[in-house]
Amino acid sequence: MPREIRFFNTLSRRVELFHPAEPGHVRMYTCGPTVYNFVHIGNLRTFLFEDVLRRTLAAFGYRVTQVMNLTDIDDKTIKGAAAEGVTLREFTDRYVEAFFADIDALGIQRAEHYPRATDFIPQQVALVQRLTARGHTYVQDGSTYFRIATFPDYGKLSGFDLDEVKAGARVDADEYEKEDVRDFVLWKAAKPGEPAWATALGSGRPGWHLECSAMGMALLGESFDIHTGAVDNIFPHHENEIAQSEGATGKPFVRTWLHAEHLVVEGQKMAKSAGNFFTLRDLLEKGYDPLAIRYLLVSVPYRQKLNFTFDGLHAAAAGVERIGNTLRRLAHTPPADGEGSLPARAVDEFLAEFDGGLADDLNTARALAAVHTLLTKVNQALDAGGIADGVRRRVEAAFARVDGVLGIVPKAVAAGTADAEVEELIGERNAARKVRDFARADAIRGELTARGIVLEDTPHGTVWHRAG
Ligand code: AMP
Ligand code: ZN
Repeated sequence: MPREIRFFNTLSRRVELFHPAEPGHVRMYTCGPTVYNFVHIGNLRTFLFEDVLRRTLAAFGYRVTQVMNLTDIDDKTIKGAAAEGVTLREFTDRYVEAFFADIDALGIQRAEHYPRATDFIPQQVALVQRLTARGHTYVQDGSTYFRIATFPDYGKLSGFDLDEVKAGARVDADEYEKEDVRDFVLWKAAKPGEPAWATALGSGRPGWHLECSAMGMALLGESFDIHTGAVDNIFPHHENEIAQSEGATGKPFVRTWLHAEHLVVEGQKMAKSAGNFFTLRDLLEKGYDPLAIRYLLVSVPYRQKLNFTFDGLHAAAAGVERIGNTLRRLAHTPPADGEGSLPARAVDEFLAEFDGGLADDLNTARALAAVHTLLTKVNQALDAGGIADGVRRRVEAAFARVDGVLGIVPKAVAAGTADAEVEELIGERNAARKVRDFARADAIRGELTARGIVLEDTPHGTVWHRAG
């Protein structure tokens, strides 16, 4: 049974206990980058929130299937390719590659699927046809629009009253403000100089909102568990996704919507258009450690604004260093004889508080505070009577969990903590076998196998090595 977790659901505006539709398996869709430029650290804050979400779900015992789209056709990519006189694919390939390099540098785990909008044109066309069959669309000047008056639930995510909206007016732009709510474009008629596909809807290209509905449903099913993005995605993007998906299927599209607050600079949203942005490359060129950047961006709970400052980045670097120093000191100090000065209970209390923070709508600040409390206790114990070998292994195993979820332990010491965690699990498996709980013992072996750990039971006990 996976651990319980609670999330604030934008749709219900409440904190709710989370249950995936298929027990133990979470299907989630995360809006990805528009590949027309390098991502900035505001975008990366959102992608890191999603990374901590997926890592937490995995650590809590769920299987995760995550989709992140790559928006390779919209007003911005078309403009960028035209300005450079290259094809859309050549232009976007460059930024897809840069995106993967950036997320790798920050230790963001790969999603299971990274669909590109231009690879899913038939699915998008089919979705528009389903909407048409159910009376939700109309055509004007060769473009197909969604008539929002046909979908009484329109506004349920972002919270506005459809009655106040002017019926019949249209909007063609991909992005617009709430004041501008109108019938939005699903399929745009071809324009000279723009890429176009010859389809049953006429020659043209999809609007931005359509891709996420079509690709989400193609890869995760017509109803799935979690959809995420940053708060600017709530309107119009996610509101339109709900209208397109539920309008076509008549089924609830997504049950839990999670939205990250923005990264701001001096109170203003970091944005390419505002010119107040840093890319990851900017910060790496200045000599900052990617681990410190990651630490800073995950340290503030995702529903709070994160004010980016260089002082904050220096404090994050100090946090990473403290973890590394303490774990190195722990590894190199000879174990205490007897019980030592750190009771095993301190590790249990830490794990309960760390997991408790995460289970509370991913409260990473609470989880990190618990990490620092444990570091203080470890250092105090090392200064006093030392730490017994068994407790040292438990501390190291606890830090393997911290690294598994937050990814903030320096690599050189993380390898040692990973070994300690394997040994902990082998100990648990032996204990389970002793009480003839073979289901639990097999589950632990399975978990280790999945991590590439091979066990061998010998007359002298269990030995292990890494596969390959
Ligand atoms: P885009 O490439 O503009 O489609 O954005 C990719 C993701 O980053 C989307 O989920 C945006 O909502 C999110 N995003 C954009 N600006 C910020 C910001 N300043 N802070 C946090 N997330 C952002
Ligand atoms: Zn999207």
